[in-house]
Amino acid sequence: MSKLPNISTSIFAVMSKLAHEQGAINLSQGFPNFPEDERLLRISEQLIRQNIHQYTPMAGLPLLMDKIAQQTYTRYNRKVNTNTEMLITAGATQGIYSTINALIKNSDEVIILDPSYDSYEPSVAMAGGISVRVPLNPDYTPNFNTIEEAITSKTKMIIINNPHNPTGRIWTVADFEALETILDKHPQILVLGDEVYEYITFTQPHISFHTRKKLKNRTIIASSFGKSLHVTGWKVGYLIASETIMHEIKKVHQFLVFSVNSFSQHAIAAYLDVVDFEEVSKMYLEKRNLFKNLLKESRFELMPCDGTYFQVVSYQNISKTNDVDFAKELIQKHGVAAIPISVFYNDQTDRQMLRFCFAKTDETLIQAAEKLVKI
Ligand code: PMP
Ligand code: GLN
Repeated sequence: MSKLPNISTSIFAVMSKLAHEQGAINLSQGFPNFPEDERLLRISEQLIRQNIHQYTPMAGLPLLMDKIAQQTYTRYNRKVNTNTEMLITAGATQGIYSTINALIKNSDEVIILDPSYDSYEPSVAMAGGISVRVPLNPDYTPNFNTIEEAITSKTKMIIINNPHNPTGRIWTVADFEALETILDKHPQILVLGDEVYEYITFTQPHISFHTRKKLKNRTIIASSFGKSLHVTGWKVGYLIASETIMHEIKKVHQFLVFSVNSFSQHAIAAYLDVVDFEEVSKMYLEKRNLFKNLLKESRFELMPCDGTYFQVVSYQNISKTNDVDFAKELIQKHGVAAIPISVFYNDQTDRQMLRFCFAKTDETLIQAAEKLVKI
């Protein structure tokens, strides 16, 4: 009678719990452990006593929506109508769920590229849709031949996560062009663009679906303030999509949450006046480089990390154990928690890879690396 018979507790919850129980350094679940920006805390202190604690309008706090529209214009040169094309969500997770449940019907097929973030497939299943999982290339770049082969007359959506969790890869202009060529032939297919790491790229500036003329009107773009402002627990994100699509998504949103918590929306709206998103990438670039350098002496092999705050490593030189067991061993024997990559595949493809989150204080990264280089 389960609607999600194959779904168990998310790997993020499992690994964080295990890390906590064993007192391990937690580089598994993706969240920062450094202090929040003092300016955001000050804004929050001032706001808490103000009259801002009742429901906001269903689609979001107008002040916040205006700031997001300004930001989207400045950064991506896209004009967004806040009344018809934007929705504030309780994190990207709820935005993704609402999008899929608004647009996917029984037996519609949704293409998901593996390894993929864990919330997509259950959201498709709850909508009665069918997930068609298409593996990325071994170097985690998209394979447009297999993507094209997976398209049928029932394909309704493709989900693209860029920058990519868990692999840390990002899409190039050529990737977008290849996708555009394919989708030109299939006008029924919508794109769900999960861009929660849009402010964290290292090797080239982020290319957003907002900037792709051919795609932007058929794409629903999900963003997350949790990721871009280091407040994952606040659970505030937003969607941008064309009016007809957004009209449908709002129908689901209003009966899932109606509106998102007012305090965080007010605080973020005020904070957006002072925050500099350029600092976000810069800070994470330094952390990525620190972590990479610290692991140079280890037997782990580091995969390219173009964006996000995740570093994927191969441990093939260390052990032949499968990645789920190796991740548990790493916690129990060595005191460091990571995420095994196989859990992000439909068929649990195990290439003996782990994902480390480097959104941590330098001290935490140094302590973790001290343990990892000894393995
Ligand atoms: N998509 C991806 C790729 C993620 O890594 C995450 C986790 N932050 C989410 C969506 C969900 O974001 P949020 O915490 O805002 O719900
Ligand atoms: N996005 C985070 C990660 O990839 C975790 C989100 C969650 O715990 N659901 O680790």
